[in-house]
Amino acid sequence: MKKKNKLTVTSLVAVCLVTIAAPQVFAYSKIGYKLVAGVKDRYYYVGASSLGSNIDAAVSNWNNIDPLTYFWQDQTDVNFIKSSSNSTTQLDFYSDYYGNTGWAGMTYYFDSAGAINSGGYPTKDYTWCQAKLNLSASHNNSWTTIAGHEMGHALGLMHYTNSLMDGDITNGSNLPTGITLDDIDGIRDIY
Ligand SMILES: [Zn+2]
Repeated sequence: MKKKNKLTVTSLVAVCLVTIAAPQVFAYSKIGYKLVAGVKDRYYYVGASSLGSNIDAAVSNWNNIDPLTYFWQDQTDVNFIKSSSNSTTQLDFYSDYYGNTGWAGMTYYFDSAGAINSGGYPTKDYTWCQAKLNLSASHNNSWTTIAGHEMGHALGLMHYTNSLMDGDITNGSNLPTGITLDDIDGIRDIY
């Protein structure tokens, strides 16, 4: 009887260890395709836009993951440099009054042959992206947040709740407005 109890305790400990060691559920969602040239020292362009400072801030946020919030093992290779021409860029931002489209931001994917699955997620790796910010749209977040969200799409992330990639990001309340560890983990997984 005593021996049996000991066995039970051993089994319980084993179960606990297995539970602790169980793989974490990935708290992000990937498109499954990515920028061919990667994300390190790539180039972005801002077309004629009243949102230039928001866009620059959004890119800067991706480039500079706060080392005081996230440790060295939570940094990414993302570094996009601003270019005055869109001829060799990987990410171009535009803003305009695109009308009552139902979206505040939209990302389009291209390769050398042109648009990939225009208006939807790409079906293969891509060489550059276009992120459009719709000045006609009503939203409850800053344009910096929305530009950062679109950049996340350009880098290969799909929507995921409680992160910068939350699909409800334009609705505002109680959503992260900056890059979260989930977003970082997703990018680290992709590149
Ligand atoms: Zn989105």
